[in-house]
Amino acid sequence: MKKVVIIGGGFAGSYAAKKLQRDFDVTLIDTKDYFEFTPSILRTIVEPKHIKKIQVLHRHYLPHARIVTAEVNDVTTTDVLTTKQKIAYDYLIISSGSSYTTPIKEKNTVIANRAATLRNYTHILTKAKKVLIIGGGLVGVELAAEIVDCYPGKEVTIIHAHENLITRHHPKAVRHAQRFLQQKGVTIIYNQRMVENKDGYCFTNKGVCIEHDIIFICTGIKANSSFLHHNFSAIVNQKQQLKVNNYLQVLNYQTIFAAGDITDRKEEKTAQNAEMQAALIVRNIFHVERKEKLEQYHSAERPMVISLGKRNGIFTYKNIVITGIIPAFLKTMIEWKTMRRYK
Ligand SMILES: Cc1cc2nc3c(=O)[nH]c(=O)nc-3n(C[C@H](O)[C@H](O)[C@H](O)COP(=O)(O)OP(=O)(O)OC[C@H]3O[C@@H](n4cnc5c(N)ncnc54)[C@H](O)[C@@H]3O)c2cc1C
Repeated sequence: MKKVVIIGGGFAGSYAAKKLQRDFDVTLIDTKDYFEFTPSILRTIVEPKHIKKIQVLHRHYLPHARIVTAEVNDVTTTDVLTTKQKIAYDYLIISSGSSYTTPIKEKNTVIANRAATLRNYTHILTKAKKVLIIGGGLVGVELAAEIVDCYPGKEVTIIHAHENLITRHHPKAVRHAQRFLQQKGVTIIYNQRMVENKDGYCFTNKGVCIEHDIIFICTGIKANSSFLHHNFSAIVNQKQQLKVNNYLQVLNYQTIFAAGDITDRKEEKTAQNAEMQAALIVRNIFHVERKEKLEQYHSAERPMVISLGKRNGIFTYKNIVITGIIPAFLKTMIEWKTMRRYK
């Protein structure tokens, strides 16, 4: 059997490993020993018990694959290197995703420690009177909504660098998110950036000082590509994303593919795009084996659900915007459907 090595067990890597495990000698290398449904992670900060619904150990859904819990620190044209071992491949799938600040994403951890980190944040949050969120993008907005939904009395402030929240979305979606948060008492400071954060005080570029008991940094998504700097720096762009062609092959390499947040595809970095890319890579690996023509990946605007706590949300697709309880329910359904595939 040919060897497929997959770096990263997020949406793209886990999907590909699951689909390829019976036909190839698959090795999944991940810094974590589990798959996590990231879109629901913000709920677990206010409701730690929810974590059980959104995590599954890789070994549960990959009985035919080899799982290596380690950090990849180098890649050559024939091998993947971790601190402890060198693993040869015929095909390589790079799906190392992106990093966020803790507790939103965590890299080097096992399932038990992850739950402990989240419980610790909940503990601090429960006691906190003043909560500060940096960034009014999708993550900052969803987190603020979860907090005010669960703890109505808390003073929540968002500092956002632009003149509207969730800037890239439809104006109706933007208006709904802003109205929802303002009605729940969230203070939104527009057009300012954090420049310093010290001893419970945050200072903005316009001289505003905000006291807080807990701060969440919801900006600064970073592609996880440091292990490519040694041999592949020429095909890593300025955003640290890996350049791919339309077949999702890494530029100049026919047997190395990349999917998800790590790629330089100009589209929203979402879980569903990561999975669609992984599905195409799976098909293209079979095409290479059968000496067939490869399929091209087409970026497209796809439906998106933004949750605003348990009972409110926003569904957007092209010019369609639906707000209220239906999108909230839809998000729960997506979580359930995704996790059912891995259980
Ligand atoms: C709070 C939040 C809410 C979101 N909500 C939505 C939503 O509602 N809908 C949606 O579609 N998308 C949503 N997204 C985006 C979505 O989660 C990402 O686009 C998706 O996780 C990308 O999947 P991926 O497989 O590319 O990478 P990731 O999910 O980031 O997985 C990468 C994996 O690689 C591992 N890894 C990294 N470096 C190494 C290394 N050197 N060696 C070994 N392993 C490594 C990581 O530990 C991780 O397990 C949200 C993201 C966040 C943060």
